[in-house]
Amino acid sequence: MNNVKELISNCESCVTKPCQVGCPLNIDIPGFIDKIKEEKYEEAFLLLSEYTPLMSLCGRICPHQEQCEGSCVKKISYSPVEIGKLEAFVGDYAINNNLKIDYPNNTKFNIAVVGGGPAGLSCAYFLRKNGYGVTIYEKHDYLGGLLAHGIPEFKLSRDIVKKVIDKILQLGIDVKYNQVLGKNILLDDLINNHDAVFIAIGSNESNIMNIPNENINGVYKGNELLENKLIIDYKDKDVVIIGGGNVAMNIASIAKKSGARNATIIYRRTEEDSPAAISEINSAKEDKATFLFERNVIKINGEDHVNSVDVVKTKSINKKDIPVNIEDSKETIKCDIVIIAIGSHPEKIVEKMDIEKTQSGKIKIDNDGHTSSEKIFAGGNVAGSKATVSWAAKSGRSAAKSIIDYLNEKKI
Ligand code: SF4
Repeated sequence: MNNVKELISNCESCVTKPCQVGCPLNIDIPGFIDKIKEEKYEEAFLLLSEYTPLMSLCGRICPHQEQCEGSCVKKISYSPVEIGKLEAFVGDYAINNNLKIDYPNNTKFNIAVVGGGPAGLSCAYFLRKNGYGVTIYEKHDYLGGLLAHGIPEFKLSRDIVKKVIDKILQLGIDVKYNQVLGKNILLDDLINNHDAVFIAIGSNESNIMNIPNENINGVYKGNELLENKLIIDYKDKDVVIIGGGNVAMNIASIAKKSGARNATIIYRRTEEDSPAAISEINSAKEDKATFLFERNVIKINGEDHVNSVDVVKTKSINKKDIPVNIEDSKETIKCDIVIIAIGSHPEKIVEKMDIEKTQSGKIKIDNDGHTSSEKIFAGGNVAGSKATVSWAAKSGRSAAKSIIDYLNEKKI
């Protein structure tokens, strides 16, 4: 509590609220900090609950430097208010004191939410909070999506993830586990049996590089590695991670913490152009990962098993274009394990859905998460939202509002 007093003392309660503008969820940050200042913790929780059910998680793992804290006025003269810690404090306080929000006991309508990651959980929460019935269809035997398998335990404990999810489910949300869209549940059945469907199944299939030997032993795909919770023996191994996003950074940290001799991140653009959050890059640096920026892997070497990669230098003309390989710059880097983490695309089932897609194969939605099909809404990474928890949560919240508007207009 003393620590919280110190943290709030730095906040000016700015009337212009630049921190709120910097937050993807547009949380009234000075508002909830003022409540903490007045020691009205339950009111702080109720205020935050209007914006998100994930306060204990976003408070811990959002890239605050690039969002709320990056917009805080104190960043220029001093150091920003540590908004994330305060948000997590309120969320944890609510869990520890079993604080509850008001919501109608009875439900009207029933909405299918497909996928129980941050977008699906947020959508389900806001629907149920407003009196709508929700059933979550989840392909795993646990909820959370990337919260549960995409972020290493040393960055986000599974215990707090579980507590946050349990608190959301306490509102009375049905969950059906082990439900794989296109296998044991069909989109048509969901449409027929529910008043609306929200699809938030993520974008979980790793992109491939189309280079020689991509499928030999010792080569793994980053997303599948995390999602399937594969355990690799990194001890005393030289690991090459290809890619510059958060998945690459997390895997490099996991490898180093698990005893890898080297974890070398190879990315074809500059550090500044890397899509990873600054905090994730710094965290991989702290774990002593090695970085090779402006390098491209052109070949994986090995017969039965990978033994090295061929790498060339690259040059970026501008941020939009793919960097070009520089001739005669090849070097060979020895390694025992290669992990490809160059982004991802939606699962095959999305291709087969009779709804409009974007050029990159994601589900096309309007500003409110509505697809080209009347009863179908989508959000999170499968619909192109930025791959962070707060952006996914925002898309779930927007879709919930849109679904409510749709159902009320239809007056089914
Ligand atoms: S910008 Fe910083 S100082 Fe101003 S209200 Fe937000 S958190 Fe407080």
